[in-house]
Amino acid sequence: MRIDSDAPWHGLEGNDVLARLAADGAGLDEDEARRRLESHGPNRLPEPARASAITRFVAQFRSALIYFLLAGAAAAAALGHLVDAFVIIVVVLVNAIVGFMQEGKAEQALGAIRDLITPHATVLRSGHRRSVDAASIVPGDIVLLEPGDRVPADMRLLRVRGLTIDEALLTGESVTADKHEVPVAPDAAIGDRTDMAFSGTLVATGQATGVVTATGQGTQIGRISQLLQDVEPMTTPLLRQINDFGRRFTWVVMAGAALLFAFAVLVRNFDWADALIAVVALAVGIVPEGLPAVITITLAIGVQRMAARNAVIRKLPAVETLGATSVICTDKTGTLTRNEMTVRHLLIDGHSLHVSGAGYAPEGSLTADGGDDDAAAVAAASRIIECGLLCNDAALDLRDGEWRVEGDPMEGALVALAMKAGLSPDNLRGQWPRLDEIPFDAAYRFMATLHRAPTGEVVAFIKGAPEAVMAKAGIREAGWDGRMAEAANRGERVLGFALKRFSTPPDRLGFGDLEGGVEFLGLMGFIDPPREEAVAAIAECRSAGIAVKMITGDHAATALAIARQIALADDPRAMTGAELDGLSDADLAAIVGDISVFARTSPEHKLRIVRALQSDGAIVAMTGDGVNDAPSLKQADVGTAMGRKGTEAAKEAAQMVLLDDNFASIVAAVHEGRTVYDNIRKVISWTIPTNGGETLTVVLAILAGFAMPLSATQILWINLVLAGTLGLVLAFEPSEPGVMRRPPRPSGAPLLTPFLLWRVLIVSILLAAASLGFYFHALGQGRDLETARTIVVNFMIVAEIFYLFNVRYLHMRSLTWRGALGTPAVLGAIAVVVIAQIAFTYAPFMHGLFHSRPLPVRDGIAIIAAGFGLMLVLEGEKLLMRRLGWFEELRA
Ligand code: ADP
Ligand code: MG
Repeated sequence: MRIDSDAPWHGLEGNDVLARLAADGAGLDEDEARRRLESHGPNRLPEPARASAITRFVAQFRSALIYFLLAGAAAAAALGHLVDAFVIIVVVLVNAIVGFMQEGKAEQALGAIRDLITPHATVLRSGHRRSVDAASIVPGDIVLLEPGDRVPADMRLLRVRGLTIDEALLTGESVTADKHEVPVAPDAAIGDRTDMAFSGTLVATGQATGVVTATGQGTQIGRISQLLQDVEPMTTPLLRQINDFGRRFTWVVMAGAALLFAFAVLVRNFDWADALIAVVALAVGIVPEGLPAVITITLAIGVQRMAARNAVIRKLPAVETLGATSVICTDKTGTLTRNEMTVRHLLIDGHSLHVSGAGYAPEGSLTADGGDDDAAAVAAASRIIECGLLCNDAALDLRDGEWRVEGDPMEGALVALAMKAGLSPDNLRGQWPRLDEIPFDAAYRFMATLHRAPTGEVVAFIKGAPEAVMAKAGIREAGWDGRMAEAANRGERVLGFALKRFSTPPDRLGFGDLEGGVEFLGLMGFIDPPREEAVAAIAECRSAGIAVKMITGDHAATALAIARQIALADDPRAMTGAELDGLSDADLAAIVGDISVFARTSPEHKLRIVRALQSDGAIVAMTGDGVNDAPSLKQADVGTAMGRKGTEAAKEAAQMVLLDDNFASIVAAVHEGRTVYDNIRKVISWTIPTNGGETLTVVLAILAGFAMPLSATQILWINLVLAGTLGLVLAFEPSEPGVMRRPPRPSGAPLLTPFLLWRVLIVSILLAAASLGFYFHALGQGRDLETARTIVVNFMIVAEIFYLFNVRYLHMRSLTWRGALGTPAVLGAIAVVVIAQIAFTYAPFMHGLFHSRPLPVRDGIAIIAAGFGLMLVLEGEKLLMRRLGWFEELRA
């Protein structure tokens, strides 16, 4: 059937809407949902259009440098140097093609990541909750909304509980809209349709169930979506810095080139055509025009490697920041622990019970502790077990031989407990229909549900943090506190349970209804084992100088016990949210470094903790999942949302999303982030001296007035051969072995550190000196200019190859065997360069184009020996600098 998305759904009663959509409150069945998906198409908006290939190719030519080159080519042609003009044009074209392909590759890599975090939604299908891909939602689906959800489609609300929605996206209204079930006038404007929820808007508070009336382009947002398509720009602060620098540098170089040209012609009496082409080529040689593209690729590769380790980058700058992370603030439940809860202890009045079994399989038994009678203890526990099953939204499912939870894991554990005690969840829930509820919220830490008992009596069940529940029941007994502390010290998560019977039942359950007359039922202790990989990841953080802070809503004793189990710190100290409230920002900043566990916190505390850490210069990664975590995720340097349990609101505020909610994935991302930064530095420390060496050689020739050791086209050739090969391989470098054994780089550390600048200088000088040595030696032997130049070109390239090995291990004490062997990328690039050089030296057509000459093997051996010598000298220099301790970064 086709559903008319223009029908005035907001003016109809809920039941009429359901009838017209051929749906019912229990949801469609999977077959019907599939049929509707076929006829209505996926619930998705069309992709924003990308710039066409031609536009992107043409954009490659839009740079001052290219204009400069083309002007040079035109001048060369006008003066009759047709071969030179031709070579320049080829270089321009090949450069554009390489740039175009590099950008395409980077963009592709980033595009693939976008698809990894598809939005999900919770629907009812044949009466069962299912988390489905939002794209598969169809008209007639029953959707459940919770705080932090992006409404996945337009829907008519059927059952609403305190729902407010941020509709700024559609209406521009900054105040959240209150929603209800009652129909509104058929001619109500969008902003007044309070019984509808619209696709793309954000649930701020409350819960609701609605039936989908329109999907995809049929939704309100679909009709105006052309206005909203935003593509994340592919840039980062570092990239912008390099681009700006590059643009300014280009102008400086061109001005310098003009001066050099004037000097060459006026003072040194060079032929002005030759001089022009030479300075043009030189300018091209010195400007690292390919650098931004290579750095983009380095970032893109980092993004891909992070994604392979379950950390999806949403905002490109995070790749850079991750490498500088000095503090990671993380959730406990599900991130450091597995979030596989099992009830282990029941503590009730007069009895303590132990529950066996693991995971969610309803297999295990309840036994009384301390010589107590099992049967009596189990009978006494029946009320608290029923409370746990009824004040509960989770369900267990046996799929492929494994028991899984739909919903909250802790609630799943309560269902398993009830089944171990012989209860049938479906039967009991059927006998005790739920009338209303107060949903769980981390701000007040409890949840309550209102039921009609089989006897007709109306009862509220309450479960939540023990303090919250005990306060409601007016319990102030040290006995309970002692029993709770005992469980918490074992690392168990402790929950309190209570009930209230109503003689005059309320229509709707409010906070006020839970005051007075609340009977405390007891406590339960849940185990949630730490993730093994989190233990290893924490050890890695400690060796990498990264502090880890646990921020949890759980009890301090539980959190501390877990902190000890995972060796979070040598002697972890805890602070509670209440203690934190008593501190000023300045006091907090003063001690925040000593505290590794923040317990009983609410989302607002996270914001203060991030700020306190940042005020001391820390680069902070912070995890979050709820809608209230959005501000702290935005404030953190690397806001990290949970891919599985996180809300859409948290994911959108975050810079990074963890596909597996696992702490170890954050550390993996930091590891990759450090590698990316290292590789960017390697790319730069290889590229700039390369250009510097060529430039210095030619400038010296012009200043001193001897024939240039490299012709203009030869400079362009060197550039061309290196750009797509060696210039690129450093982007693919794997991590250096000690990458997580050094402290994080200081925030605000410049990319061009003193050591890097020193390197640029020394390498440029060595390259130029050796080139000139070869050049004058050849001329001194009476060989012709062409041969001497061919030797210089070959030396330059060979020296670059050897220098690459120096650069590959910037941090290592010295070159290692592993480093010397190289990676497939390195070896492949070298093979290409060698073949190109053999052609350059021996192929007759190259002799015509570049005036090169064949060289005897003995020259080749001398060149390779000199390149190898240069590498050894630079390794020696690294050792010496380390000894001298001039450079901070070599001291670590
Ligand atoms: P965490 O940081 O461990 O994820 P939460 O903020 O989710 O902590 O929960 C804080 C406390 O609220 C828990 O220690 C528990 O006492 C209580 N709580 C958590 N989930 C529920 C729930 N579904 N129903 C009732 N109480 C809950
Ligand atoms: Mg939680």
